[in-house]
Amino acid sequence: MGSSSSASRRQNNLLFLVFIMILFFYSIPDKINLCSNQSSVSPSVIPYKSSSNISSLETLKLDGYFSFDNIDYAAKDFGNMYHFLPSAVLHPKSVSDISNTIKHIFKMGSTSQLTVAARGHSHSLQGQAQAHQGIVINMESLQGPEMQVDTGELPYVDASGSELWINILHETLKYGLAPKSWTDYLHLTVGGTLSNAGISGQAFKHGPQINNIYQLEVVTGKGEVVTCSENKNADLFYGVLGGLGQFGIITRARISLEPAPKMVKWIRALYDEFSKFSSDQEHLISKNSFDYIEGLVIINRTGLLNNWRSSFNPKDPLQASQFISEGKILYCLEIAKYFNPNESDAMNQETESLLSELSYIPSTLFLSEVSYVEFLDRSYMLSIPQHVRGHKHLKKTVHGN
Ligand SMILES: Cc1cc2nc3c(=O)[nH]c(=O)nc-3n(C[C@H](O)[C@H](O)[C@H](O)COP(=O)(O)OP(=O)(O)OC[C@H]3O[C@@H](n4cnc5c(N)ncnc54)[C@H](O)[C@@H]3O)c2cc1C
Repeated sequence: MGSSSSASRRQNNLLFLVFIMILFFYSIPDKINLCSNQSSVSPSVIPYKSSSNISSLETLKLDGYFSFDNIDYAAKDFGNMYHFLPSAVLHPKSVSDISNTIKHIFKMGSTSQLTVAARGHSHSLQGQAQAHQGIVINMESLQGPEMQVDTGELPYVDASGSELWINILHETLKYGLAPKSWTDYLHLTVGGTLSNAGISGQAFKHGPQINNIYQLEVVTGKGEVVTCSENKNADLFYGVLGGLGQFGIITRARISLEPAPKMVKWIRALYDEFSKFSSDQEHLISKNSFDYIEGLVIINRTGLLNNWRSSFNPKDPLQASQFISEGKILYCLEIAKYFNPNESDAMNQETESLLSELSYIPSTLFLSEVSYVEFLDRSYMLSIPQHVRGHKHLKKTVHGN
């Protein structure tokens, strides 16, 4: 009896093992296609290139071109968590390249199951700019008209959907103007951030970037090139803005501008209680006296204030040197006031008075005065950890410091 029950247990174990092995082997093809590490970008994945749908793309007359090989990079993004290999990458030189390609795919009908994704600077975190066995449109190849700045009563810049915000900053500053609302990091494309929202410390005042757009040129899902705004094709306009790339491809945007300040008073202070931190933020937002209000959570970082010292001056150096974070979670208030050099005294008085209303840890008040360009282009770098700063997309800015 004992030996027959142990034999049956052995048989059950064997069956269980076989079952697990079947499950394991069954799961391999899915992992090759969809798994979240680099090895999943494998040439062993057979894309639809061999199918007539994909090869028909080669018949299109384009200013740019398609690539079908060595396109692994289009299955990667900043997040490095998802890797969906496309069948082809379009490198458009003109808006009509995008329009002709999408018209062609639309004509194939839904049975083709070909998906299309625009790829800006690929700083998505979860594969949003990837298209599994579909077509990725490499927006950075697009060669549109140059940026055009209009300095009229309601100034604006017309820029390509593939333009980086850092280039828009430098171009508009030549006219003493700049966009009102930013992201913390400026090496992102216009189309990429307008498909999301585009949020930074100016959003409490001006709304996110999508609230500061007068007009868009969009290639729709049928391949038509349509101009849209609040008053013209408004459904498309509001669909595309914040539309996660699902309602059309942004090829041009008219972005509202304001006079650019020369200088920025940039302030950081720490809190150890979230309620005090958030109520001070709400207080400052309701006063609407600063130009930039943000915050960040800092977990278990030692030597924090030392790290900031190269860019900020402690209000009280002695007290600041004695501050010990003791591994606590800290909340960092980050605020800024724009000013021009001739307004420096009035700005300092107003800032002092506003700071006196806040409840931060007194020894952790840090101040700095930097140019507007330095503030916009460097603020992100100072708040991110060293290992992220080493990322290849960020090196240019770090070295530029
Ligand atoms: C280091 C870093 C800092 C960041 N800082 C901020 C920040 O401060 N504020 C903020 O709001 N976000 C921030 N983000 C998020 C970032 O704004 C989004 O990930 C943005 O989409 C990235 O722009 P991109 O050009 O890299 O777009 P991609 O990652 O290439 O694309 C993003 C999405 O937009 C679509 N898309 C791209 N171009 C177009 C187009 N022309 N037309 C239609 N759809 C298009 C893509 O298909 C995809 O769905 C940050 C991301 C990183 C990695």
